[in-house]
Amino acid sequence: MIYADNAATTRLDMDVLDAMLPFLCEEYGNPSNAYSFARTGKKALKEAREKIASCIGALPEEIFFTSGGTESDNWAIKGAIFASQSEKKHLITSRIEHHAVLHSCYFLKEAVGVDVTYLQTDREGFVSANVLEEAIRDCTVLASVMLANNEIGTIEKIQKLAEKAHTHGVLFHTDAVQAVGHIPVNVAELGVDMLSASAHKFNGPKGIGFLYKRKGVALFSYMSGGAQESGQRAGTENVAYIVGMAAALEKKVGCLEESMAHNSALAKNLLRLLHEKGIDFLLNGHSEKRLPGNVNISIRSADGEILLHRLDLMKIYVSTGSACNAGSTDISHVIRAIGVPSGYAAGTIRITLGNDNTLEETAQIAEAIRWVTGAV
Ligand code: PLP
Repeated sequence: MIYADNAATTRLDMDVLDAMLPFLCEEYGNPSNAYSFARTGKKALKEAREKIASCIGALPEEIFFTSGGTESDNWAIKGAIFASQSEKKHLITSRIEHHAVLHSCYFLKEAVGVDVTYLQTDREGFVSANVLEEAIRDCTVLASVMLANNEIGTIEKIQKLAEKAHTHGVLFHTDAVQAVGHIPVNVAELGVDMLSASAHKFNGPKGIGFLYKRKGVALFSYMSGGAQESGQRAGTENVAYIVGMAAALEKKVGCLEESMAHNSALAKNLLRLLHEKGIDFLLNGHSEKRLPGNVNISIRSADGEILLHRLDLMKIYVSTGSACNAGSTDISHVIRAIGVPSGYAAGTIRITLGNDNTLEETAQIAEAIRWVTGAV
């Protein structure tokens, strides 16, 4: 098989599994306990927090473990709104966010009456700092714009956006689920107040992630219970998975340059071959400022769902949009938002190449696409 859907999830790294195993088997003590048997777990949590913090330029006490990207996004957005004292509350996000962000905003609008502005992007998926500034009101609490788009791979100019938000006293959150472990991410350079990440996107286990929350930022802790995570996110820590997440991130960050070069060479090769085979397609997102392994294309007069299933029969795994949209035959909200021309939009597929993929596989994918689209 050829697995080319690394934006949906990645294979667990075997070194990561080795790091996790002791905490699933022998070292099962609850890190909150005071006796010596719990100490190894407690120490492992501390070390994992330090490793993750150092990988993104944060302080250990600014890292909060969660169940993944979805929870981190929910907490950042709902937590900021519920912590705000202002009577009227306004929230800004973009039209191309992941549903973890969009549906959190929708919930706040429906359940609490928060006003939400959804910023339009340009054709390449960029949110403009001026457009963000124009949307800011006196009662704006938070702006949330993703670092890298999960469908089209565009890497936003987060530093500029965060700066604009801060000029007006607005908090800034970024969903960096697709970016962490794939491109350099430093919270101090980005200037964000909060950042979400998820381990299964960088060869760690599924169901674990973290939220970076800058020291001094007040978030409502909506997970009620024990005093874990400095009393801000209750629930017994998933030690093995947290250890795995830290090991995975440390490994990815340690070989980031090679990994980016590898993935971008694969993506370039695939695009070259698709062109050579005479396939009429548009590359979605920015041509350079994009996630290295992301190839999101819209093929003229094709149907993305049919392409996906035909490739599936050939054991080539790609997707049409985000994994959470799988099964939906609609054109994704991202493809709509960036305005892909109608003759192409329905023929959109996302191929996301990772460290395990090879040049030979990109040749096989290109040939398979030529075959299923009937290009000559
Ligand atoms: N945000 C983005 C940009 C994503 O791509 C995803 C997952 O696809 C999520 C959030 C949700 O993360 P998780 O699967 O860890 O809940």
